[in-house]
Amino acid sequence: PEVVLSVDGLTVAYSDTEVVRNASFTVRAGETVAIVGESGSGKSTMTGAILGLLPRTASVSGTITACGTVVTEATERDMRALRGSQLAYVPQDPMSNLNPVLRVGPQVAEAGGVHRSQTRAEARTRAVVALERAGLAEAESRYRQFPHQLSGGMRQRSLIAMGMINDPTLLIADEPTSALDVTVQRVILDNLADLVARSGTSVLLVTHDLGLAAERADRVIVMRGGEIVEQGPSREVLFAPTAAYTRQLIGAAPVGRTAARVPRPVPEDAPVLLALENVGKVYPPRGHGSRRTAAVSAIAGVSLEVRAGQTLAVVGESGSGKSTAANIA
Ligand code: ATP
Ligand code: MG
Repeated sequence: PEVVLSVDGLTVAYSDTEVVRNASFTVRAGETVAIVGESGSGKSTMTGAILGLLPRTASVSGTITACGTVVTEATERDMRALRGSQLAYVPQDPMSNLNPVLRVGPQVAEAGGVHRSQTRAEARTRAVVALERAGLAEAESRYRQFPHQLSGGMRQRSLIAMGMINDPTLLIADEPTSALDVTVQRVILDNLADLVARSGTSVLLVTHDLGLAAERADRVIVMRGGEIVEQGPSREVLFAPTAAYTRQLIGAAPVGRTAARVPRPVPEDAPVLLALENVGKVYPPRGHGSRRTAAVSAIAGVSLEVRAGQTLAVVGESGSGKSTAANIA
């Protein structure tokens, strides 16, 4: 299949420090390639270079060609056009990539509307369909909500909808689900995998998680200290790694290593430092007239207590009310 991304001898430096050094790889049509590596190894710098989104202080050498455009020679305007069409991006942090004062649906519609002649109604319908395909339940009624009214998982789905709305050739996803809890991560990634398989989109997926890379990617690139130390088909890299560092990473992966820590006993008479009794929280409706959104019951009937010396873990899926309970406490 045709090459949709080629990175050839890419070096990125800030002042005198090279944070990506002489990196070369390709992504072909329909392929999912994962970049793994520890924090600071240069993964986001690499994706930033491909997207043309590095700060001006970065000095870049080498050649990047994405979807037929030579990124390393393109103008800012070329790159904006490319990012609005064939090259899409799903960032790690949905909150800082959604405009908090605009409703979610119109932001998705805007992403789909660049350089297109379509009526408002057409743009709206396309956005709702994109949100539904990204797995956002009740997309019609969520359309008018603000980012803070959605859970982390729903916000991430909205960003996936924005990324996929123009049927991109290449989707770059930088830790797209790392801010979410594991059950939601899995569902969202399954959904994304279906979506890209249907559209034939290639994916460059950045992740810390080797297990995830093995499961989702056709090929894996391992980075360390700005260099690619190993790359190849997922199975080979993960089950027969040649680089010592990859073996180290596999050993460090937290798969099945949930330590059986025995909790310290807390005396019965330890004082109760925090008690919630039958606590509920309803977020009031917002807006006016036809734009008014319904009230949201975030938590209801929550009772818990924490005694001196105790650690209480609150777990639950995205949107289940953990943070609301913690904020009230
Ligand atoms: P993480 O897994 O934590 O997201 P990463 O692999 O994405 O890490 P990068 O963000 O690419 O790592 O950072 C690589 C190196 O480049 C780090 O040492 C970082 O401090 C440095 N770096 C990144 N951005 C800048 C910048 N704007 N100015 C100077 N140094 C930077
Ligand atoms: Mg990063």
